Formats: sequence, C-alpha cells, structure tokens
Amino acid sequence: MSAMSAVYPWLEGPWQRLTAAIDCGRIPQALLIHGPAGLGKAGLATLFAQRLLCAESGTMPCGHCHSCHLFEAGTHPDYRLVGPEESGKAIKVDAIRKLINDLSLKPQYGGYRVFVIDQADQLNISSANALLKTLEEPAERTLLLLITHRPGRLPPTILSRCQKLSIRAPRRDESIQWLQAQHPGCAAAVLLSAAGGSPLQALALASTDVVERRQRMFNEFSGVFQHQLDPVSVADRWHGQAHEECLDWMLAWVSDMVHLGMAPAASRLSSADLETELTRLIQGHPIGGLIEFREVLLNYRQALGGQVNRQLLLEEALVGWSRMGQRANMSQS
Ligand SMILES: [Zn+2]
Repeated sequence: MSAMSAVYPWLEGPWQRLTAAIDCGRIPQALLIHGPAGLGKAGLATLFAQRLLCAESGTMPCGHCHSCHLFEAGTHPDYRLVGPEESGKAIKVDAIRKLINDLSLKPQYGGYRVFVIDQADQLNISSANALLKTLEEPAERTLLLLITHRPGRLPPTILSRCQKLSIRAPRRDESIQWLQAQHPGCAAAVLLSAAGGSPLQALALASTDVVERRQRMFNEFSGVFQHQLDPVSVADRWHGQAHEECLDWMLAWVSDMVHLGMAPAASRLSSADLETELTRLIQGHPIGGLIEFREVLLNYRQALGGQVNRQLLLEEALVGWSRMGQRANMSQS
C-alpha cells in the first residue's frame, strides 16, 4: 500500500485524522491502531509512516522524493517494522531490544523516525517490559506505532501510554458494494461470510474455489445433522482440507444457529447467506445442546494448535454433530 492515491473507503476517516495530526504538528509519541483483523491496519500504519517521512507535504506520500524512494525500497534508515517471526507467535525480546537500541541513535535524515510494532498483542512479558521503559521516556521526533486487533491483551501500562486510533469494520452492505466494485460478478455476500466479515480477506478469496467448497461442506454439515450422511465418511471427504478451516466453519454455523435460536430477529449472522437453511436446521432443536456443542467445538479448535491426531479430532467433531442431530429428531417425535 505504498504511494497510493487513495485509502480503502473504511479507512478514509482514520486517515484524515492521521494526516490532520501531521498538518497541525500534533504527532503523538506513541499511537495504537486497533480494530478487527483484516481491515488493512498495517497498511494504514505503513502509509502513515511513509507520509511522515516524506519530504513533500501532500495528503499522500509523494512517491518520488529521496525519502519515498528509500521507503519503497524497504531501506529507509529511520523506519523499522517489528512483529512476530511467525503470525501468532510471540514477539521476541531481542527484536524489541534491538529496536530500543536503534532508538538511542540519531535520526539519519534529521526528520522523524517511525517504529512500527505489528501484532503488538504478541509482545511477551519481557518484550512488553522492555518497551515500557521507552514509552516512559520517549525520544524526540520519534513515533512508536503499535498495531493490534486484540488491544485487551496488551498490558494496561502500555495501553495507557498510547494515543488510540480505532478502526471500525464497514457495514455489511458497504463491504458487499466495495467487493462487487473490485471483483465484478463475485458472490460478494458469500465471500464476506467465508472471510468472517473482512472485506480484504473476502477479496483475496474471490479468485479461489472457496464459495463452491464452502457450499459443498455446508451441505455435508447439514446432511450429517439430519442423518442423511455418515459422519465418518464426511470426515474422510474433508480430509484434504485444512482442519482449521473445517472447524472454523462448523463453529461459525453452530454459533449462527445458537443466535437464531435465542434472538431470531436481532441476529447478526456470520453466515447471513445461509440464514434460511440454518433456521430450518434449528427447528425443534433444544438450544442448550447447541450451546454445549459450540463449547466442545471451541475446545477441539484450540486442541488443533497442539499435538493431536487432527483427522481423528475432525471425525469426533462430526460424530458429535451427528448425535446432536439425533437428539433433535428424538425431541421432535
Ligand atoms: Zn515523498
């Protein structure tokens, strides 16, 4: 997202606030950008960093000054980006110590310096403590920019020292409209559901077979529940797919069924395109059982992160789901 002419429509408000801070010379020393995953927060932070370092003074970074050239080549000496080595893993204290050491040096170009910490919720205790000292004695003309979709996981001592910029997801109809403009003819509503509401992830999925795959899996999920399909054979058929994806979708559908059972009118479903089918599935079904089953699925989902027989776990989930369906049939008769 470098030297672009516009930001995503849902980032326009936040972007205006950021550039206004530059224009009136009120750049915070520490800024936390937070909001749901998959909205382009890291891209916004990068664009802001480039704008702050740019020698020109337009709304967007100019893209042709010396600073912009270095930035786009990834070699700007006054810019650092730190994050976990692998997504979801802790940010190592060594990375933070190196960053703090760099902070003690002078800016190379006499302007601002920007240090971005992506997935800041992955700071472990020693990394967070090391960073805290820096936040307590901030260096001049230096911006520390933290990004997270889970601000609640950051220590309050760090949270309290950052200015905050909240990014909100666009409304569902706005996302659908945007997706259709980006990828005309795509099944925008289904893609958005499959992407858990993230328009950027939905766009990435538009060029895959995810829509067909999800529909096929939903038919099987529904078939197992209604005793038309054998859960073990379905688990076999799902074998080639990521186990995480299988369980995430089962979880999303069961959660939607719980919502529909509790407050049908007010439900905001993650799989809104399947509302009719899901409503039909919960007919005559005790909601308490579904809530329990959702907990079981959550435990399975967590267990996937450890040493388990993943295929057996998926099979157990589907066998459990089949039993749930049986209970519904019995309570109906
Ligand atoms: Zn520039």
